[in-house]
Amino acid sequence: MASSLLPTYARFNLAFERGEGAWLYATNGEKYLDFGAGIAVVSVGHSHPHLVKALTEQGEKLWHVSNLFEIPQAERLGARLAAESFADLVFFTNSGTEAMEGAIKTARRHQFVSGHPERYRIISFLGAFHGRTLAAVAAGGNPKYLEGFGPPHEGFDPVPFGDLAAVKAAITSQTAAILIEPIQGEGGVRVATPEFLEALRALCDGHGLLLILDEVQSGMGRTGKLFAYEHSRAAPDIMTLAKGIGGGFPLGAFLTTRKVGECMTPGTHGTTYGGNPLATAVGNAVLDLILADGFLTHVTKMGAALSHGLRELQKRYPDVVEDVRGMGLMSGIKVAGPVIEFVNATLAEKLITIPASDNVVRLLPPLTVTEVEIALALTRLNAVAETLSVARAKAARRGAA
Ligand code: PLP
Repeated sequence: MASSLLPTYARFNLAFERGEGAWLYATNGEKYLDFGAGIAVVSVGHSHPHLVKALTEQGEKLWHVSNLFEIPQAERLGARLAAESFADLVFFTNSGTEAMEGAIKTARRHQFVSGHPERYRIISFLGAFHGRTLAAVAAGGNPKYLEGFGPPHEGFDPVPFGDLAAVKAAITSQTAAILIEPIQGEGGVRVATPEFLEALRALCDGHGLLLILDEVQSGMGRTGKLFAYEHSRAAPDIMTLAKGIGGGFPLGAFLTTRKVGECMTPGTHGTTYGGNPLATAVGNAVLDLILADGFLTHVTKMGAALSHGLRELQKRYPDVVEDVRGMGLMSGIKVAGPVIEFVNATLAEKLITIPASDNVVRLLPPLTVTEVEIALALTRLNAVAETLSVARAKAARRGAA
């Protein structure tokens, strides 16, 4: 039967009925090792008892009241995120793209109230992905996501990722901010060096611009620090979060300093659902786990084990794996053949991986993944690389014959 869902996704012919930790149980009776985590969302594993308890307890008491009232759960989560970051103020959303929208509006409005209404343009980076609202697709600058939707939203100047000279050349009297993912996720796990982020920070300081970091994918512990920017000395003025912050419950946020955020006075921005009691109760439960002693050390350790294994894989199968990238448990392998061929082959091995641009396959397991599960994923990846390598050698022989 034809699906009633808008055909915006080419879905795998696979559905799941249950999840536990890093494991997903499919309706076909098979068990899959989940190194996709719903695209870096299921940060503390499927059905973590601490999250289930927070969700059900809050669900029995109160789900939603609107932002016309005080929401103690949101106040608490906001205060905790501010205490752990550069920020003083937090605005909760339901998704990453809404967090981006709020971040862009805040940057522009800050310049406006600071006496620079002409500063509204934002320098962004090619290969970026910031979501699917009209502003977010314009910021990303990917023609594939812009085609057919009318004139792109005005005011974004994408430049090549990592190219400081191009950033400098793009700054004009109309520039309000620089927007970057510390690690491009959809773009192919491309890591901005600490030096590059620090140079952007210095440029912002020198020109009165704001630095906006999109940590929707890289934040909430994924790289072994709570936020990826902590690997550098470049703190942002505005930062977006989503994905891992809710562990699977739709939740996002943008964070900023008091100096920047005080321009967002009553009436300037809003959301019906954002930061409701149910979402922020779950968000607090996620943060309980991520901030617990040893959690981030565990991420760093598991990340090191995974990247070591992936480098071995690359050494063994250079005809299949061209490059290994990433930080912590945000890793990617650049593959030689089509990405979808590799992802399909991992699925056949009961391992879930996520395709990205630049011919990269992402490995984004829950941050609670164990050493045994990392080893198992590596075994399955080796089997995939072996199969593809043999197939490739056969095809080459056929071609030569
Ligand atoms: N920013 C980054 C870095 C992302 O990876 C994504 C989603 O993949 C988004 C923004 C958009 O988030 P959402 O899909 O929750 O709107």
